[in-house]
Amino acid sequence: MKAYQDMNQDELKTLHQQLSKQYQDMKDLHLQLNMARGKPDFSQVQLSMPLLDVINSHYDFTDKKDYCNYGILDGIDEAKQLFADILETTPEHIIVYGNSSLTIMFDQISRGFTHGYLGHTPWCHLDKVKFLCPVPGYDRHFAITERFGIEMISIPMDENGPDMDLVEKYVNNDESVKGIWCVPQYSNPSGITYSDEVVERFAHLKPAAPDFRIFWDNAYIIHHLYDHHQDHVKNILEACQEAGNPDLVFEFCSTSKVTFPGAGVAAMATSINNKKDILKHLTVQSIGHDKLNQLRHAEYFKSIEDLKHHMSQQAELLRPKFEMVLDIFDKELKPLHIGTWSHPLGGYFITFEAMDNCAQDIVQKCKEAGVILTDAGATFPYGKDPHDSVIRIAPSYPPLNELKQATELFVLCVKLVSVEKLLKL
Ligand code: PMP
Repeated sequence: MKAYQDMNQDELKTLHQQLSKQYQDMKDLHLQLNMARGKPDFSQVQLSMPLLDVINSHYDFTDKKDYCNYGILDGIDEAKQLFADILETTPEHIIVYGNSSLTIMFDQISRGFTHGYLGHTPWCHLDKVKFLCPVPGYDRHFAITERFGIEMISIPMDENGPDMDLVEKYVNNDESVKGIWCVPQYSNPSGITYSDEVVERFAHLKPAAPDFRIFWDNAYIIHHLYDHHQDHVKNILEACQEAGNPDLVFEFCSTSKVTFPGAGVAAMATSINNKKDILKHLTVQSIGHDKLNQLRHAEYFKSIEDLKHHMSQQAELLRPKFEMVLDIFDKELKPLHIGTWSHPLGGYFITFEAMDNCAQDIVQKCKEAGVILTDAGATFPYGKDPHDSVIRIAPSYPPLNELKQATELFVLCVKLVSVEKLLKL
């Protein structure tokens, strides 16, 4: 196979005719597939069904009557311990919430605006509030900051994490920069894990704003695809504490992609100071979260080892999907030099980087042939990818046979759009 850039116009035109015909044939299949969101498929969710039986009407609540009532705002002890084990900290740093970590993040931003952190000026009184957004990043993070009218500043990332020179420049000099969104392990969507050096540099920031916070969304902390080849992001809470910056970070996670998306348990880890400050607010907001669901999770996962075993079973279901997509990319696209892609060891996404100015057209062509992908640009603030090149692939949800068809169509669309760009059609 010849790289497309090395083809002359006549070769490209012939190729274009062939690819257009193949595309039409694919369209005639009337596919209806969706690879837009990183949802577990039903077989993954089924792994957690026994969790629904661990507490029932016969459960011995003798010492746990309070769990069936209002109260225990920061979560039951067993759930705090479980999340402390996941996040490698101790229970006094943990607040266990309801079903969604995204809701906690939204709440934290909202609290910054209405009440401020640790007695600092609420952001609603400021002329300008800015957030740093490592890109490509998680579209729902950007949606929250956009919703609050926060100015978002893109920060490029490489395989070690965000460009820390740039992060330090903004954070240490600009008082209106109040936070940064981070998915530090198996990042959504690039799959990279921040290096130890990057974590240390985060911990040693000297923010111009005293209420600057790192929003450390560790959504994929235990979501490895392989048992023996795993990333492990350095512990940010500990690093901040050691750097004399204990209040710098809010860390989030949930069991959404461990048990049931939408019906799992979410938690936050932070300094004792921040926790107290948050609880003052939370005590007005709620009389307690769903402690029976917390108990269900803690009873089902009696130890972190149980949890790791469960995640390894999840990985067995996910791994073939990732490997199939990557195999097809390697076979069909690698020799053509019309794109690059990530090879994640965990998380839920593969990031595909097409030639400049191709991503929107590829996503559109896939859609016209029946395969829905995440919108091009979605992984950038305001939905604007300056190179129009990044596409997020979410292989988890479709069954293998459908994923194969969808990937074949995707590859075809990448080829077709690339040839059209080279021909300037
Ligand atoms: N953070 C990241 C990075 C995610 O990818 C997701 C969901 N896919 C979430 C948060 C949402 O988590 P939750 O269900 O706990 O709100």
